[in-house]
Amino acid sequence: MFNSLSEKLESAFKNLRGEARINDLNVANTVKDIRRALIDADVNFKIAKEFTDKVKEKAVGEKVINAISPGQLMVKIVKDELTELMGGTEAQFNITGNPAIILIAGLQGSGKTTFTGKLAHYLKTKKGKSPLLVAADIYRPAAIDQLTVLAEQVGVDIYSERENKDAVAIAQNAIKEAKAKNKNVIIIDTAGRLAIDEAMMTEVANIKQAVNPAEILFVVDSMTGQDAVNTAKAFNDRLDFSGVVLTKLDGDTRGGAALSIKYTVNKPIKFVSSGEKMDTLDVFYPERMAQRILG
Ligand code: GDP
Repeated sequence: MFNSLSEKLESAFKNLRGEARINDLNVANTVKDIRRALIDADVNFKIAKEFTDKVKEKAVGEKVINAISPGQLMVKIVKDELTELMGGTEAQFNITGNPAIILIAGLQGSGKTTFTGKLAHYLKTKKGKSPLLVAADIYRPAAIDQLTVLAEQVGVDIYSERENKDAVAIAQNAIKEAKAKNKNVIIIDTAGRLAIDEAMMTEVANIKQAVNPAEILFVVDSMTGQDAVNTAKAFNDRLDFSGVVLTKLDGDTRGGAALSIKYTVNKPIKFVSSGEKMDTLDVFYPERMAQRILG
């Protein structure tokens, strides 16, 4: 994950190897290379510039510290700033309500349905919850089949209505079912389209209004870089979601989505998904991710 970014940052820090002190010239060279590494990772130019301006300001301001080498100092500053860029601290995940309602939205192919299964697994095994999955994709019967398979895999129940073409009614009926069967979390997998589409947005917005979710999670494929960020913006403008799920981090992803989303929509990344197996879901910790990027 983020291999190319990690290598380029490491090479940027080499500017400072053998330097006794931080000075304007070696900071400027390092910062230029860091900026290039971020842009190559598909971080938007403005974000990369603001990031490196901050790094530069901090580095120059820390001239007097002699205890650590300029290289180590720069790594620490970059780590702190990367952590900050990705949200600073771990975001809370809200599962209040009985049942707690979690709405999942995103484009088709982003990994929504897979994530729905993984989240159920996580809530069941790590939080002792009893989840009910809800198939609210009224356009693709295959989506219901896929969710049914995942529900079986993780050992949770699923609610679907194959003949009902009203996604809001399905979600409302699922809440009744959850109450009747003592399920304390429901996870609603909504329909996605290949591109942003008004009908899809209206449908998810209508479900949101009808069921008042504790969490609305926007799922996005991290491989799509700046497109992921633009899609996040469009969904957030319409849905005001509560958190982001980055999928496919096991692929050859460059890092732009992970680094830019929080800055762009001011919503935290809450989970990262890295595989097709149901146990490949992790809570997102900005500092750990920054550490991984720096190797
Ligand atoms: P949806 O259309 O948004 O519901 O997307 P799906 O959940 O059907 O996922 C689309 C494809 O991506 C499927 O082939 C999934 O197996 C795959 N997929 C989903 N999440 C991940 C992930 O974290 N890593 C990898 N490698 N593949 C994933």
